[in-house]
Amino acid sequence: MRRVLFLGPPGAGKGTQAKKISEEFNIPIIATGDLLRENVKKGTELGKIAKKYMDEGTLVPDDIMLKIIEQAIKDLDSFILDGFPRTIKQAEGLEMLLNKLNKNLEYVIYFDVPDEEIIRRLTARRICPECNRIYNLNFNPPKNDEECDECKVKLITRDDDKEQVIRKRIEVFKENTYPLVEFYDKRNILYRIDGTGDTNEIEKRIKEIIL
Ligand code: AMP
Repeated sequence: MRRVLFLGPPGAGKGTQAKKISEEFNIPIIATGDLLRENVKKGTELGKIAKKYMDEGTLVPDDIMLKIIEQAIKDLDSFILDGFPRTIKQAEGLEMLLNKLNKNLEYVIYFDVPDEEIIRRLTARRICPECNRIYNLNFNPPKNDEECDECKVKLITRDDDKEQVIRKRIEVFKENTYPLVEFYDKRNILYRIDGTGDTNEIEKRIKEIIL
């Protein structure tokens, strides 16, 4: 049983590593960004509300996010959380929810990556609209020109991976999300890893912690 949280700035590699670890250990991923993007694509009420925040790189309100996360994790014993929580309020809400469910978070992995590296990564990021797999045209390209190795569909650029929105997301991360490092450090479940280098190397660093 593993209940893991991946914490770090946008473009830190959380989604890429979540896929790898999920496949290896057979743990479901709860990626709130993916859940929101699916709602935007389907045009649901939630999607309509979320879109305006996502387009400007700001955060969807905490009460909405807490409802989404409760639905997503209530029946799961193991999970990898990617992109949630992003504020102290969300972290407190998650803690209350997990207490109520008699589950506890075991590992919070913080991905340390410098700002310049984040911008370089995000401007070359492409995702598969079918399976949400993440590629990078420079460091981790698909085998065939801009096509998902698995689904064979054309990769897309996320709407919010534009330089101006990227800068806003980094700012929002520093102000709202970075304080979670201290929050989880106090609970003695925070592990920092170097998020730069080869994706397989980074995966090894994570496995050494959660094995
Ligand atoms: P991500 O795919 O994790 O980078 O998320 C994309 C966007 O979805 C973010 O920039 C936010 O607008 C929104 N979002 C995702 N997760 C959360 C969250 N936990 N709280 C608030 N907004 C979120």
